[in-house]
Amino acid sequence: MNLIIQNHAFQYEIEKLVRVFYPHTKIRVTDAPNGEPDCILTAVEPKADGADLLVRACLCGASLEKTAAAFFSDVLDNETNEDYLERKLVLLLFHVLRELTGYTPPWGILTGVRPAKLMSRLVRDWGEEKACAYFTDEVLVSPKKAALASAVAKAEAAILAASRPASFSLYISIPFCPSRCSYCSFVSHSNEAAKRLIPAYMEHLLREIAATGALANALCLRLESIYIGGGTPTALGAEDLTRITDCIRAHFDLSALREYTIEAGRPDSVTKEKLLAIRNGGATRISINPQTFNDDVLREIGRRHSAAQTLDAMALARSLGFDNINMDLIAGLPTDTVESFRGTLETTLALAPENITIHTLALKRAATLVTEQLPVGDAAQTEQMLALAARALTENGYAPYYMYRQSNCIGNLENVGWAKRGRECLYNVYMMEECHTVLACGAGAVTKLCVPLSNNVERIFNFKYPYEYIDRFEELMARKDRVASFYEEEFEGFRE
Ligand code: SF4
Repeated sequence: MNLIIQNHAFQYEIEKLVRVFYPHTKIRVTDAPNGEPDCILTAVEPKADGADLLVRACLCGASLEKTAAAFFSDVLDNETNEDYLERKLVLLLFHVLRELTGYTPPWGILTGVRPAKLMSRLVRDWGEEKACAYFTDEVLVSPKKAALASAVAKAEAAILAASRPASFSLYISIPFCPSRCSYCSFVSHSNEAAKRLIPAYMEHLLREIAATGALANALCLRLESIYIGGGTPTALGAEDLTRITDCIRAHFDLSALREYTIEAGRPDSVTKEKLLAIRNGGATRISINPQTFNDDVLREIGRRHSAAQTLDAMALARSLGFDNINMDLIAGLPTDTVESFRGTLETTLALAPENITIHTLALKRAATLVTEQLPVGDAAQTEQMLALAARALTENGYAPYYMYRQSNCIGNLENVGWAKRGRECLYNVYMMEECHTVLACGAGAVTKLCVPLSNNVERIFNFKYPYEYIDRFEELMARKDRVASFYEEEFEGFRE
């Protein structure tokens, strides 16, 4: 499909919306028609008091054209003239594509990773009623999704209020997996060569953890939550897990710690020895991720474990005393159906995990699912799955507490963390809303330094691949010098 951009700089948002309606179509961006039968033209004709807007689409033999006049007198008080013209043009495109396809995306034209963060800001600026009206009237979010964003914003506000300026969380990345799932773009870390790097990786990781602990102590920071994720931390052996938890204990002050999570995501990597290492190491929260309880779908996504293995891992964890467990599910997986998803939900609810995270399948460019063009769930079916989940989870005493969206998610839909009352994962909220510093160790980890009472975030990126992390470790540690100078510059007056 050709996407023709004439006389405006809004290509990014326009292209994103086209991908919501046509997720599998290759898009070529040009500035003039070139005879390609499937094309969408978007054009802006500036005027003194606004602009004339045009969208013309010819797709699969059907065509539709709409025009609109935009007046700067209608600009909202949270937008510039440019933002306003962009919103108006994207809205016009939305109406054209909705009419041509018969599909209404539930998030309207709202793009961006953090809808709840936007909702929180608008509620602060305008109050709840006007903020919700912006969602439904100005960016055409469905009332249900606006209510979801509002509910998440409220849950997050309560958690964020407990974070102090000197609070921080510690994230540790274990970038290894037992094998690679077909929907994941986590390319080389699950092959045999990568696994041979584990001993050297561990040595460097322990050094980075120790140095981060020394830094946090010197700055008198207050560790509130720890999250060890990946990859799959339980791809490591019990001994290595213990070395990590011992290292944390030796180098950090854990007296203010309120949460300690270690992901045990892949059921085929869970053993009694590893769970005991996690428990004895001090972690109180784990994640065991079924994704689906349908064995055919598990095979289709190359997950290399069965539904029975998930049930066994969960029973083992409960028998060892874990009473705070998250389970991840994915809506829109290849060959999954609404009925099979309902079965997955019922099985998950029967296990009564404290958290259930419902993801929408994201079509990541490097994932086998995309490179081999495996058929995935369509937007309408995936939306049905999410609606089913929202109903069932609410009826079973779970409430939504954090939410994010990834690019190229089916239907531009969302990922939502649901929790039983009082069991919300603090780290998820801190990490997502970016109002609380996260010091991060390991390959691919990103340290986020947050300025108190502002939206300013500074990031320090660790090298992505384990071999780079090992080879360029000193360079990476030098980058971390910025942590101390950041606190010296930004925290004057915020000391507790
Ligand atoms: S276990 Fe998770 S991180 Fe590892 S390949 Fe599968 S989806 Fe990706």
